[in-house]
Amino acid sequence: MKEQIHLTLGDLTRLKVDAIVNAANKSLLGGGGVDGAIHRSAGPGLLEECQTLGGCETGDAKITKAYQLLARHVIHTVGPVYRGGHSGEALKLASCYRRCFEVAAGSNIGSIAFPSISTGAYGYPVGEACRIALTISLEQLAKFTQIESVVFVTFSGKDLLTYARQLAEM
Ligand code: ADP
Repeated sequence: MKEQIHLTLGDLTRLKVDAIVNAANKSLLGGGGVDGAIHRSAGPGLLEECQTLGGCETGDAKITKAYQLLARHVIHTVGPVYRGGHSGEALKLASCYRRCFEVAAGSNIGSIAFPSISTGAYGYPVGEACRIALTISLEQLAKFTQIESVVFVTFSGKDLLTYARQLAEM
């Protein structure tokens, strides 16, 4: 399972995978960070489709087409805002990753790329978030054998190192 996980530094919107995951907000109508980058690269069709979805709860995920992106689909998930770690954040973040895999498996997706959900504007410490991301991904790769590869895309070398160290220990 571990060999199905890949780590890379850079811009998620450039990846040619079956699905990229968007760290969205509950409205699904766009925002800053990776969400803004995805909507800018996908073009207006993505917002139009998102407007039909009725938002998304924290910890859940919804899928759309990817329009002008190189990926085929975007899976939108809403991570928790970090409020110190005692407000159920870990369970909600785990749920995001789990739901993304479930949605992907239901849509014939073999490769999926994640940003570091909740660790930007939502303030989740990268070390803790990364442990959840990797643990749930290994669990879900065992469950959904049609998903062959998972890429974690970090935006900084420091975050990449955090993921690499954590993965090496698993
Ligand atoms: P959240 O609101 O869930 O915290 P953000 O988009 O603010 O989401 O940040 C999530 C992570 O995505 C952060 O580590 C941020 O640096 C990173 N990020 C921002 N833009 C991109 C991008 N184009 N590709 C990959 N990662 C990105």
